Amino acid sequence: MPARTFDVIVVGTGAGGGTAMKMLCEAGLSLCAINSGPRMEPAKHYRLHRQVYDLKYRGFGNPMRLEGKAHQEPYSVEESEYSEGKDLFEHDIAYSNSPGTDWYWKRCKATGGKANFWGRSSARYGDIDFKAADLDGFGENWPVDYAEISPWFSKAERYMGVASTVQNRPSNPDGEYLPPIPWRCIDYIIQKGAEKIGLPYLPDRCAQLTVAHNGHPACHYCGNCTRGCDVGAFFSPTWFTIPDAEATKNLTLLTNALVRRVLVDDAGMPKGVAYVDRATRREVEVYSKVVVLAASCVETAHIMLNSTSRHWPTGIANSSGQLGRNLCDHLYGSPGYGYLPQLLGQPATPDNIADSTVAWMPRWQNLKNPREEKFIRGYSVYVGGGCGEFPGHYNQIEGFGTEYKRNIKRYYPTPVGALIQAPSLPSPTNYVDIDPEKKDIFGIPQLRFHFQWGQNELLMWEHSKQMMMDLFKAMGGEMWGADDEPNRPGTSLHETGVCRFGSDPKTAVTNKWAQTHGIPNLYICDASIFPSPTDKTTTMPIIAFAMRTCDHMLGNFSKGVHNRA
Ligand SMILES: Cc1cc2nc3c(=O)[nH]c(=O)nc-3n(C[C@H](O)[C@H](O)[C@H](O)COP(=O)(O)OP(=O)(O)OC[C@H]3O[C@@H](n4cnc5c(N)ncnc54)[C@H](O)[C@@H]3O)c2cc1C
Ligand code: SF4
Repeated sequence: MPARTFDVIVVGTGAGGGTAMKMLCEAGLSLCAINSGPRMEPAKHYRLHRQVYDLKYRGFGNPMRLEGKAHQEPYSVEESEYSEGKDLFEHDIAYSNSPGTDWYWKRCKATGGKANFWGRSSARYGDIDFKAADLDGFGENWPVDYAEISPWFSKAERYMGVASTVQNRPSNPDGEYLPPIPWRCIDYIIQKGAEKIGLPYLPDRCAQLTVAHNGHPACHYCGNCTRGCDVGAFFSPTWFTIPDAEATKNLTLLTNALVRRVLVDDAGMPKGVAYVDRATRREVEVYSKVVVLAASCVETAHIMLNSTSRHWPTGIANSSGQLGRNLCDHLYGSPGYGYLPQLLGQPATPDNIADSTVAWMPRWQNLKNPREEKFIRGYSVYVGGGCGEFPGHYNQIEGFGTEYKRNIKRYYPTPVGALIQAPSLPSPTNYVDIDPEKKDIFGIPQLRFHFQWGQNELLMWEHSKQMMMDLFKAMGGEMWGADDEPNRPGTSLHETGVCRFGSDPKTAVTNKWAQTHGIPNLYICDASIFPSPTDKTTTMPIIAFAMRTCDHMLGNFSKGVHNRA
């Protein structure tokens, strides 16, 4: 049987891939989407609205479930017993860390990817981010400016539904918002304290539906979000882009299919991809006129680095030598946690309405002058608290036995904790490459990480600790402590940079449309193109840039740059 050729292949069905699937299928192209793991089925895979004592392993999952797996490290929040469908997360494929690197690579391999469980924080980037190199002289500017990308942010927000308010802050352009998520008692206390010392405390931009939106129901505030939503009241590919793409009947979705390389023709141009069928372990080829990689930042680079040929000896589209380079991440960690004594003795209230980003402290440093602080750029902080289902302060207070349990209850409605989100700067020593010695269970050469936090983000970390001490004092709180060290790199899940975009083919992997330099029919739709992180999260921008990239590609189909199959 001759193999079918599609107009487009999209690798990955997460925030970026799902968006490409929707846009291209709705434009009438024949599309094959390839996903490394199984289909996410909320009715089957989510076990929401249960108490931990209703679950066999008290929410932690079967401790033996990873026995025999190549990558045995469990993932955090999202991989609990509440979403322990068989093989939703990647444990078959190991990766390497070079000496001195401790990267934590969390991967959801089910369709929809990590955005099935994400925190939903969805702020716009601005020119303070795109032109940061002009402002402080470090690194490269982005090849776009705010005026150009702003309509795509609007399009993404209108589609996803983002709740927030207009805030007029220099580092955070305002967007098109649904009504904000209602604030809790603690938010008013924290805001008052922050105001006293001149810090912003504002509603976050949260992709959670405060009202019914585009056929999706309004949130009923059960607080389960990072275990997945069973009614689709926050943006996820599972509830939004994938069903939209399927409704067109132009989609062929292959699951449990691990793409290992891009196939090229005699001229070195992509003609499809080769994947490993996880069930049979056989390699299969699929063909298309255009290939879109959206396997999630470092995995996109992994596929490209493994796509070697006589035309591309160091990986496809790597004529710049930048493929895999410039790996960046958000430094995460708690710069301060403690409690609000004024809430002691107050009854618990069911205010766990979003399970994460109700409010945040957007960047307030280096706004007037890019070098006001000892560090360049800036960070943001999320402050959380309230009556979560699980007493998060269990490891923040000391004690033992009955006295300890009594204290857990006594403090229950009072704890407050901060989380810093500090962008790392691109560095020549932070990158991914192919481990020359190790292969995964399918015989695919493994990815290897080289990464250390740099001085700039560590200065932000120290600065945030002092700021949180000031905040606790201003809001009448008592501090219990702060993390001794930042979290492991990779924890934030906001990695960027390894296929950065830019106008100069000598220094960038793709052009400003995320189309690889020198290869017009290979596009990228994930955060690997972002040259540097910001103080904001990545997912809404991934979706906005993917929409813009697909629009450009559709123009290229119309102009005959790409032919239909
Ligand atoms: C608990 C949690 C909280 C988060 N909070 C936020 C937040 O508040 N704001 C924010 O912006 N972001 C947040 N994130 C991060 C956000 O989820 C990611 O930025 C986003 O999902 C990335 O989308 P992606 O499409 O690039 O990758 P992914 O979502 O990882 O999707 C990649 C897809 O590609 C598939 N794939 C991978 N490799 C291959 C291969 N070789 N072959 C075939 N298919 C492949 C995978 O199966 C997966 O479906 C959070 C994530 C988590 C888990
Ligand atoms: S709080 Fe809202 S968005 Fe989150 S899981 Fe519940 S219904 Fe869904």
